[in-house]
Order: sequence, then C-alpha cells, then structure tokens
Amino acid sequence: TPRLIWFRSDLRVHDNTALSRAAAEGPVVAVFLRSTPQWRRHGHGANKLDFWHRGLLALRETLQGLNIPLLHRDIDDFAAAPAALLDIARETGATRLHFNREYPWNEARRDVEVTRTFDEAGLTAIGHHDAIAYAPGELLTGGGDYYKVFTPFAKAWHRQLSGERLTLHDAPRPQHESPVPPDPAPEPPTLAGTPAAPEAWPAGEEAAADRLERFLRFRGHHYVEQRDFPGVAGTSSLSPYLALGMLSYRQCMQAVLAENGGHLAEGDAGLTAWVSELVWREFYQHVVVGFPDVCRHHAFQPHTEALPWRGDAAGLAAWQEGRTGYPLVDAAMRQLRHTGWMHNRLRMVTAMFLAKHLLIDWRRGEAFFLEHLVDGEFAANNGGWQWAASTGTDAVPYFRIFNPTTQSQRFDPDGRFIRHWLPELAELPTGSLHEPSARQRQATGYPAPVVEHRAARARALEAFKGLTP
Ligand code: FAD
Repeated sequence: TPRLIWFRSDLRVHDNTALSRAAAEGPVVAVFLRSTPQWRRHGHGANKLDFWHRGLLALRETLQGLNIPLLHRDIDDFAAAPAALLDIARETGATRLHFNREYPWNEARRDVEVTRTFDEAGLTAIGHHDAIAYAPGELLTGGGDYYKVFTPFAKAWHRQLSGERLTLHDAPRPQHESPVPPDPAPEPPTLAGTPAAPEAWPAGEEAAADRLERFLRFRGHHYVEQRDFPGVAGTSSLSPYLALGMLSYRQCMQAVLAENGGHLAEGDAGLTAWVSELVWREFYQHVVVGFPDVCRHHAFQPHTEALPWRGDAAGLAAWQEGRTGYPLVDAAMRQLRHTGWMHNRLRMVTAMFLAKHLLIDWRRGEAFFLEHLVDGEFAANNGGWQWAASTGTDAVPYFRIFNPTTQSQRFDPDGRFIRHWLPELAELPTGSLHEPSARQRQATGYPAPVVEHRAARARALEAFKGLTP
C-alpha cells in the first residue's frame, strides 16, 4: 500500500523530512488540501495565494518526474481536513500519512485533529519536525521557559546546534509508476484581487535554489553594509520561498557552511549576519507557540492593550495608499502594493509610523501587510509588528521612535528608492527629496504630511507613558 505525503507549506522534494521518511517506507502518493477560504479568513491575499498555487504547480511537475501522483482537494476550512485525508487514504488504500508540522495555533490544532482521526480509524498519521532547527519547546531558558529575548535565544540556538539538525534529507528517487492516477492540474484559486507582480516571484524550488546561490555568491558577503538600504538589492528576497517551504532552512545553512569555511557564527560578517536573520525567523515561530495568546490578536505585553489607539480612518487610508506626505513611508507602501514585498528596513519604518505617529492599532497594519505580502507569514509578521509597536517580545523601547525623514536621509541617501516609487518627486534635488518644501509639494501634487513628526512623537510618548506594566 502507498504512503501518503501531505504537502502544506513545504512545497519541495529536496530536503523534505516527511517526504523523505515516507519514501523510505515504500511507494508514495502526494496530497494537497487547498483551503483558500480559510487562508483568506486568516488574512492572506492574492499575492501569497497566487504564489502558493504556482508553487503547487511547480511541485506537481517535479513529482511527476518522480512518478509520484499528486491528489488535491479544495476544502473550506481546516476542520474538513481530517475527513478529506481519510477519504483519500481509503481511495488509495494507504494506511500511513506523513506531514511536516506547522506550529501556529490553528495549523497545529488541525494537525492534532488529523492525527486523532487517523488513530481512531486504525490508521497512522505522523508529524515530522522540519521547518526550523528546534521544535518549539526544545530550546528553553535555564528556568524552562520560552525565550522572550532574541540574543540569549540565538546564543542557545548556536550552542546547542548539532550537525544532525543541519543534515539534508535525500530527495526520493523516481519510483515505479503508481497505480494511483494523478489528479489533473488544479485550477487557479479564486483570489480577492489580482496578484501584483507574479513575474517577480517565479515559484518552485528550482527558482529558490537559484536565488539562494546567486545571493550567496554575489551579495551575501556584502550583506552587513547593504542590507539596510532599500535602493540596493542587498538582501536575499528569499522570504516567500522560505514561507512556503520551496526552500528549507537547512539548505540555507548548508549553503552558508559551504561558503563560509564550515562556520555559521564566525567568519564572514555578511554571512553570519544573514544566518542571524534566519534565527530571528525561528525565534518568532517559537514565540507563537510559547505565548499562544499572540495568535488570538493579543499583544504580547498585556498592559499595552490599554493604549488609546486612534480610529483615524483617513490616516489609515493615507498610510495604506502611500500618501502620508513622508516620502520614504509612501515609497515603501507603494513598493508593497506593487510587488507584494517590502524591504525589512521599511517594514520597520512604516510599521512604526502607523503605530506611533498615527497611533493606529498595530493590528490594522498587521492585517494590511498580511493581505499584501507574498511572503506573509503569521509569526514573522506578528513579531515584526509587535516589535515596531513596542507591544511584543524583545520590542523596540517605546521612546525610540524612528524619525521618518532622518531614516530616509540615512538609508536612501541618494534618493534612488524614493525616485523609483514616487516618480512625481523624481526631479527634486536630493536634498529636498526626503522632506519636500510646501512649494515643492504644491508644484508636484505631493501631499502635505498627515502628521507633524514632533507633535506625533510627543503624542505617542504620552500614550505609552500613561501605561502601567
Ligand atoms: P533577508 O535579509 O535575506 O533574510 C533572510 C531570511 O531571514 C528572510 O527571507 C526571512 O525568512 C528571515 N528573516 C529576515 N528578517 C526577519 C525578521 N525580522 N523576522 C523574521 N524572519 C526574518 N518576514 C516574513 O517572512 N514574512 C512576513 O510576513 C514578515 N512580516 C514582517 C512585518 C514587519 C512589520 C517587519 C518589521 C518584518 C517582517 N518580516 C516578515 C521580516 C523581514 O522583514 C522579512 O523576512 C525580510 O524583509 C524578507 O526579505 P529577504 O528575504 O530579502 O530577507
């Protein structure tokens, strides 16, 4: 009888723990449950859903080359997953199902239900640990708690890392033709909008491997100097691939080891800094399990729930549409809307602008990001937002409020990024680009600032000062 491998956000055949274990047991049939309505309820928009779909098509093709048939079903809700998988097990005669665990609350609950249902039916469902180096709960403080601060987490991460956690799992070899016929290619999902720039994000593990190789060869060594400048392609832009598992963290780490004399924490400053970002990714995945309240729209620091968030619909719309009158913020928001991606420095700047300058509930921004990001990922997005809003783990202190004009002068000094996204300002001299004068605004039609920095800063400080932890 065949083994079932249930793909979710691990759309690759290389270094896929569950697939490799399933294939070691015998012939394999692949399954994918598309829960578009549920994913939409979780806040994902057209960019990510389109990328997911294209990733599935790429995976299907790769699986075909291995004679692994892919069956897919559309379900409305995670609650329908156990029955759908049980049906497939009965249709194919499979008794064992393998999958890689997903850790956020809803996904984890779904997996528990699937395992229980299989158990009750006398079948076996096996969840494998795959997406990060340590399963949540495996890396704890001396007191046995989940880490709330990144630096000690990262130290422990490196200290306890064994070669085994970095060992790549073999891709399966082509199997004999399966008696189970593959389903026809899935139709595109119903999207709530048009994907912004699918051509910028070729899907699949081949595209991911290619990006990783090019990044490490050409940019990785310069990562420290370049990573904060949105006008330079200094980062890997691998986030969508990592979010949907077209690339594994082990593949990233192995590529760094090969490029960096066998080290992750020492050696080339660029490569080690990049590894540290991947550890941030893991940190936030542990946070959502250790502190599951954050999965229910709660602030990590409960006392910050008392912040007097403003219901400023006009301010929110100006932020969303990139017309706050702060060129770097607006350029960033336009990058997000037009590409489905935003540079990390700008995610921090725009998130802080919404939460601090506009004093709008960070959850509004979190949802807007998730709806637009092609790499939208609950743990990283929630972590980033709660960092910027000073409500989270290891968050920025509330009194360190980025000045969007100074950030602009520092991180887009020649105005390259602003000119690209705000063509109406392209002709201004660089000196004025970061803060156009009233006359320049009038001449170009560029809006006046929605808030004045100093007053907005004072208002935010006042709001935070009133809180008692
Ligand atoms: P690189 O600099 O090349 O980093 C390599 C990888 O490390 C990334 O692909 C990503 O997987 C991981 N990574 C890097 N920085 C972080 C970080 N701060 N937190 C967690 N993981 C990180 N990242 C997402 O993947 N999905 C999100 O939905 C998301 N939302 C964010 C929201 C806010 C408000 C902020 C401040 C950050 C958010 N990030 C998110 C983290 C980060 O901005 C992106 O991962 C990064 O910009 C992706 O670009 P890159 O692949 O070129 O990153």
